[in-house]
Amino acid sequence: MTRFPPEPNGYLHIGHAKSICLNFGIAQDYPGGICHLRFDDTNPTTEDPEYVQAIQDDVRWLGFDWDGKMFYASDYFHQLYDYAIRLITKGRAYVDSLTADQIREYRGTLTEPGQNSPYRDRSVSENLDLFQRMRAGEFADGTHVLRAKIDMASPNINLRDPVLYRIRHTAHYRTGTTWCIYPAYDYAHPLSDAIEGITHSLCTLEFEDHRPLYDWVVEQAEPPHRPEQIEFARLNITHTVMSKRRLLELVEKKLVVGWDDPRLPTIKGLRRRGYTPEAIRAFCEHIGVAKRDAVVEMQLLEHFIREDLNKGAQRVMAVLRPLKIVIENYPQGQVEELDAINNPEDPSAGTRKVPFSRVLFIEQDDFREDPPKQFFRLAPGREVRLRYAYIIKCVGVTKDPQTGEIIELRCMYDPDTKSGSSKEQRKVKATIHWVSAIHAADAEVRLYNPLLTIDLAKVPPDQDWTTYLNSQSLERITGCRIEPSLKHATPGSRYQFERLGYFCVDPDSSPGTAVFNRTVPLKDPWARIDKSQQPR
Ligand code: ATP
Ligand code: MG
Repeated sequence: MTRFPPEPNGYLHIGHAKSICLNFGIAQDYPGGICHLRFDDTNPTTEDPEYVQAIQDDVRWLGFDWDGKMFYASDYFHQLYDYAIRLITKGRAYVDSLTADQIREYRGTLTEPGQNSPYRDRSVSENLDLFQRMRAGEFADGTHVLRAKIDMASPNINLRDPVLYRIRHTAHYRTGTTWCIYPAYDYAHPLSDAIEGITHSLCTLEFEDHRPLYDWVVEQAEPPHRPEQIEFARLNITHTVMSKRRLLELVEKKLVVGWDDPRLPTIKGLRRRGYTPEAIRAFCEHIGVAKRDAVVEMQLLEHFIREDLNKGAQRVMAVLRPLKIVIENYPQGQVEELDAINNPEDPSAGTRKVPFSRVLFIEQDDFREDPPKQFFRLAPGREVRLRYAYIIKCVGVTKDPQTGEIIELRCMYDPDTKSGSSKEQRKVKATIHWVSAIHAADAEVRLYNPLLTIDLAKVPPDQDWTTYLNSQSLERITGCRIEPSLKHATPGSRYQFERLGYFCVDPDSSPGTAVFNRTVPLKDPWARIDKSQQPR
């Protein structure tokens, strides 16, 4: 029996996905295995029902089901209180009345032992009386705490009489004002596991030093069942942020559009960006579970979404930065409906019709007036194939007389080179995508780049990390032209724009203008060649 124990103080991210795949996955791997979804909601100041709902949505979307086993640590407040009474009665816990600062001073350091609090030797009856009065609301926040009585000289600081309960006169989103004392994580977590009968409590490595405390709590409180804590390395990914505190900061300061901003590694952000649950699960499976912290390259996550979409996404043609071309020898007013393959990886996806006419748009990048070596696309006097259509030749370049900017290309097509026809014998070095000008629809395309310019670990501690946010993380391109079959694409649908990458329809789309998020580019061999030729 495992559990996934999120605190409902933010949205889930890809790191949580690793924990979800591990906990739910292990339960699936063993006959009779069960994984609980438990909201670890013992901190009234930061938790919110909005997050409770979003977390359930995300776990389901990732493809997991808790089979009715959804729990809240706040449901155990009574039992946790009773266990505290037991600890006090056994002489294993006491009420301390030092201030938070004094407690810190008395705690000692990694090299020096701590000192006992002057209140450590209060009698059981005095402790019981004070703790009951703490619970009854007689004392102000911070005046008393309940502490475990373990060992102030322990080399493990977590065992130097850790705080078990604090007074907080703050309403909780579920229990309201019933409680004004709240249990600490290190106390509530092992006992919640024990109450639920969890056998394997899988948590991240930073809790390794807390394991002796976990075991102490279970041993001293004597619940009917004994869980075991096992640690694994948390997932870290380059050039992004994962901690909920930082994600919340981005959302609250409006540095991103919300928790579902496609630049964020949140489950909602990845989903809006076009990621599939299958790709995320395959990624988590691949990275595996280890005992040592490591940082995974963002490219690895991208690899898995590319693999998945390559199998399933329909291919379409879209031009992000349009350059008009006029085919001089193609009859005015004529339209041909050409057959285009929907997915070469999946013959059952069939074909669709794409209109071809005299005036088309191609990508500005697919033309160079003065082509460098190894550039095989369109250039004056050169030929390329238009995907699913004909070979064309550029015979002229029309420029704005004032600015010199290219307005359109004049081209000639070779009617004997239609794709799929028996006469299609001639070969050219490049095939480019296009759309028919009068048939194309308008679109906005959003390209995403890494959120941070450097890795978080490299940000100097005295600096505000948000100064390293990448100002180019979002690039909005308007005036894109898309093939007419995309006019009625619904939010969430995913496509491969031929030669450009994978794109997903954003909920910001309106009937006149579709908005597409680039999930991930295709690998672009030319970009590599181009870069390698730049002076170093
Ligand atoms: P964060 O540090 O991002 O704020 P958290 O650990 O405070 O996250 P919780 O809601 O307590 O968030 O996490 C729920 C579960 O998910 C915990 O068991 C935690 O260990 C696990 N988890 C959180 N972040 C990661 C991560 N990056 N990799 C693997 N597991 C994680
Ligand atoms: Mg946590």
